[in-house]
Amino acid sequence: MTTTATAPADRAHKAAKRYIYAWGDGTAEGNAQMRDLLGGKGAGLAEMTIAGLPTPPGFTITTEACNDYFAAGEKLPDGLWDDVLEAVREVERSTGKGFGDPANPLLVSVRSGAKFSMPGMMDTVLNLGLNERTLQGLIALTSNERFGWDAYRRFIQMFGRIVMEVGGERFDHALEEAKKRHGATQDTDLDAAALKDLVGEFKSIVKADAGLDFPDDPYEQLDLAIKAVFASWFGRRAKDYRKNQHIADDLGTAVNVVTMVFGNMGDDSGTGVAFTRDPNTGEKVLFGEYLTNAQGEDVVAGIRTAPKIAQMQTDMPDVYREFQRIGQQLESHYRDVQDLEFTIERGRLYMLQTRSAKRTAAAAVRIAADMVDEGTITKEEAIARIEPAHVDQLLRDTFDPKALETAKRIVKGLNASPGAAVGRAVFSADTAVEWVDRGEKVVLVRIETSPDDFHGMAVAEGIITARGGATSHAAVVARQIGKPCVAGSADLMVDYDTKSAACARTGIDFKEGDWVSLDGTTGDLYLGALPTVSARFEDQPELQKVLGWADGIRRMEVWTNADKPEEAAQARGYGAQGIGLCRTEHMFREGERLEIVRDAILVANQATRAKAKRAAGEPLSDDDTEAIDRFDAAMAKLEVLQQGDFEGIFRAMDGLPVVIRLIDPPLHEFLPNLEEQLVKVTKAELQGGATEEDKELLATIKSMHEQNPMLGLRGCRLGIMIPDFVKIQTRAILNAQIAVKRAGGNPIAKIMIPLVGHANELKRTKELLEAEVEAVEAAAGGVDVDYKFGTMIEVPRGALTADEIAKDAAFFSFGTNDLTQMTFGYSRDDAEGGFLLKYVEDGILPVNPFQTLDDAVAGLMKVAVDKGRATRPDLEIGICGEHGGDPASIFKCEELGLDYVSCSPFRVPVARLAAAQAVLTRIAERDK
Ligand code: ADP
Ligand code: MG
Ligand code: MG
Repeated sequence: MTTTATAPADRAHKAAKRYIYAWGDGTAEGNAQMRDLLGGKGAGLAEMTIAGLPTPPGFTITTEACNDYFAAGEKLPDGLWDDVLEAVREVERSTGKGFGDPANPLLVSVRSGAKFSMPGMMDTVLNLGLNERTLQGLIALTSNERFGWDAYRRFIQMFGRIVMEVGGERFDHALEEAKKRHGATQDTDLDAAALKDLVGEFKSIVKADAGLDFPDDPYEQLDLAIKAVFASWFGRRAKDYRKNQHIADDLGTAVNVVTMVFGNMGDDSGTGVAFTRDPNTGEKVLFGEYLTNAQGEDVVAGIRTAPKIAQMQTDMPDVYREFQRIGQQLESHYRDVQDLEFTIERGRLYMLQTRSAKRTAAAAVRIAADMVDEGTITKEEAIARIEPAHVDQLLRDTFDPKALETAKRIVKGLNASPGAAVGRAVFSADTAVEWVDRGEKVVLVRIETSPDDFHGMAVAEGIITARGGATSHAAVVARQIGKPCVAGSADLMVDYDTKSAACARTGIDFKEGDWVSLDGTTGDLYLGALPTVSARFEDQPELQKVLGWADGIRRMEVWTNADKPEEAAQARGYGAQGIGLCRTEHMFREGERLEIVRDAILVANQATRAKAKRAAGEPLSDDDTEAIDRFDAAMAKLEVLQQGDFEGIFRAMDGLPVVIRLIDPPLHEFLPNLEEQLVKVTKAELQGGATEEDKELLATIKSMHEQNPMLGLRGCRLGIMIPDFVKIQTRAILNAQIAVKRAGGNPIAKIMIPLVGHANELKRTKELLEAEVEAVEAAAGGVDVDYKFGTMIEVPRGALTADEIAKDAAFFSFGTNDLTQMTFGYSRDDAEGGFLLKYVEDGILPVNPFQTLDDAVAGLMKVAVDKGRATRPDLEIGICGEHGGDPASIFKCEELGLDYVSCSPFRVPVARLAAAQAVLTRIAERDK
């Protein structure tokens, strides 16, 4: 920000270091840049003073003093108290009052203030310096006895609760009793005599609860209050908050000692909080609340219902105008929306705090867009200010906050995929499909999900599982297809037999058909159908505008992972510039195809061996011939179906690149589970015999069983062992390309070979596929098809030998899910359901490496980028692992110099923003 501050004036000090920065009389020793040392509040008060705004004089004791206090074993550093006394004397001089002076008493507030505003820190103590003697002075000076006693009872109440740790409810209770006795409805209805009685009562409460007399000496009060602020830094709540927010413990808090101004001096006085724009909508109107005849804590604690700030315009038009002007001045000074605290003492306005306002996602986007239009900030600043989470939130439905207040929560789990979903509970994927077909909305409830549940997940409004972490199958797939999901709700007992579920903790149960509401943003499941507030990208012109600016800034392109034309079209609507990963095998599971695929798999090995024999001129048995025929027939059907799929995708992505990955998972993923089939056959045998088909299937499943399928026959290995799968896929892709092109389209096909660890794997596969290319070209009448072959880098050996691999690859795409799995040596499915969450909780790992790219994995990527580009300078490199949609990982991809990130359609807008922010950060680092 622009600052008017000059270098802070030097100040004499008795302590070893300078711990004090004062302000008053239009000058200040600190400024807005010094938030580390002075905390946000102190820096703001100094800056406002320099800017000529009315602030009551005071001083800040630095965060360094806090750290030194703890380093010395909770003792004020030597000399600090002397420096505090000197600072108090300066305030006395500036105000013409005396601390503890019965004739003209100076009262102060003691306020904590860390660099980041932080719940858990000590509450502010007001009116410090009061005792029976100074009280009389205050009363005499103001000729207002009621005001004096009110200030005193507030002071005892606050100091007692906050510094002496007396149970606050005891004071509240006494106050309520007093109001009853006097027939008062508001605190303001209590007269001086009643308040005086209350002071006596409060003092006895302190004595009884703390076992100490309430301190009378203002200096003792100040000493205790300062130490209490420091102590609160390591209080339980503050520590927990910092841990949760990853805020360092060694920042420390500052203490601000500020001359009191009084909002409770009558109806020409008041206090309030206001935002320079509406923090909910972003609208450019003064937004806030204020109370006449009140002190600060009344507004914040909601002791009286405060009227809207607009009321002030009627009550005190001049002050309102001044406040409005100051708000605008501060907003343009800080070039951001400000959250302001102020007090009016007998018609005079004082500013007590300014800080950048917290805001909703909608407000963040609107404010950023408006401020660019107003010429206050640049587009770059606007982009830097919006949090990726904001964009994400804006694209998710949410529950009506009013309805949530009374909603009945069944269970809380992990917030695995954000958004609000309402539907009737169903307990199986098939039921989900059936119900949706007849027009119902459903929420799928499962103990956990597997690929077999995909069809149910795809039609459900949302998914909840009892088991599995934030990267379990349910969570990953839900994020992929943009469905709200709550995972790992350990307290939920799901019973498939009775089609019901119950939460052990809340005792609430529900059965099939009951309405439930699921909040994937918070992880809550509620009973009943709650009303939602919907959010469509098309309806958010401001978001689109801001993302358009992001597009102008970012270097990396943003592509999407999409397997179907609808997904592709949606991602394109969100701004995707290509498909970075189209998983062909997802199409294998749809409807009739699974049967065809299974049919092929049953004879795949035998047919492949027989074909090899045939090629070598050996004679074939009838059995062999039959296997070949059956296999080829199934494959031919599949080829036709896949070509149709690809045509759809090419049309949806017309003119944009489409990376299609050839078959990747182990074949047994398309077969029934071994145990299930074994049980089926065994049961049937006991009851008179299993069918030949079932027995054949069982034998095949057994023969394909692997100990470590993730490290087994999959990816390019599968293509080499059973070439027909990748051959038909290649033909389908190329023929689709030709067909769409002939129809006037502009398809851009890229064929991607997964799981390459040795350059020879790629070379061999490429030879195999190039033969298909020639065949297709010849069959199409000699056309030249446009395509590129590339590979995934997802095996560590592949990354380390990327120079070799790049000889046969026109592009690389990092499959960071597998690369992370293999770099750590974790089986992802087992790790995430097991030890990984604990690892993260205990700090053994800083983050879940499947969510945010690990630095060592990024290190392998760097090797691959460098080696790959050394061989082939124009090598196109992207990422298609789930990290491609994670903002922190996108920053790392920018550093690595990738050409694009590819993520699920719903993450595309977030990725557009994050990619732009990554550029801005890189430039800022460079210019440091
Ligand atoms: P928080 O960090 O909770 O905002 P503050 O230190 O800002 O705490 O204090 C809360 C409120 O107390 C302020 O908004 C203001 O109304 C009141 N307050 C604090 N210091 C003073 C003061 N010197 N004079 C009058 N009111 C004050
Ligand atoms: Mg405040
Ligand atoms: Mg992979």
